[in-house]
Amino acid sequence: MLNRTGIPTPDLVLSRFPESKALIRPKAILECYEDIPCNPCQTSCPFDAIIIGENINTQPQLVVDKCTGCGLCVTSCPGLAIVVAQIKGDQAVFKIPYEFSPMPNKGEIWDGVNRSGETICDAKIDAVQLQTKNDHTALITCSVPVEYLHEFVTIRVRL
Ligand code: SF4
Ligand code: SF4
Repeated sequence: MLNRTGIPTPDLVLSRFPESKALIRPKAILECYEDIPCNPCQTSCPFDAIIIGENINTQPQLVVDKCTGCGLCVTSCPGLAIVVAQIKGDQAVFKIPYEFSPMPNKGEIWDGVNRSGETICDAKIDAVQLQTKNDHTALITCSVPVEYLHEFVTIRVRL
């Protein structure tokens, strides 16, 4: 399915999530599904929580216990393949990369979008960080209902 549509199967997505009890703290979700020569995620992590190893074509693995959820790897990934996820009560809180215009503003409600590009829920914008060192990739913190933990992937401006 991934090769044909570019959309990972639900099982493939689930394989990149740590168990729910680990998500009481923010953890990186590495949705990197191809063997490609790339490693900024590994080199950007100050906590050695991402392992690729000597073969740069190897898909990255998260060392869950080492990940603090800082989000540095999110904006370093050229493929926009990383988010940070955390469960907070009835909300799933994400840090996602965002490179489109317009930029969201804190407090706004945007559409929450799944991996097929479909609107699935409200996404409340909690914070917007845009630093020049991130080369125009913003780090957006947003909250969606927790039942969309494994479906939500990004936001779209509400028209
Ligand atoms: S979120 Fe921070 S600690 Fe976790 S893997 Fe990414 S850079 Fe490392
Ligand atoms: S930086 Fe992104 S695309 Fe590159 S290996 Fe890491 S997760 Fe995959």
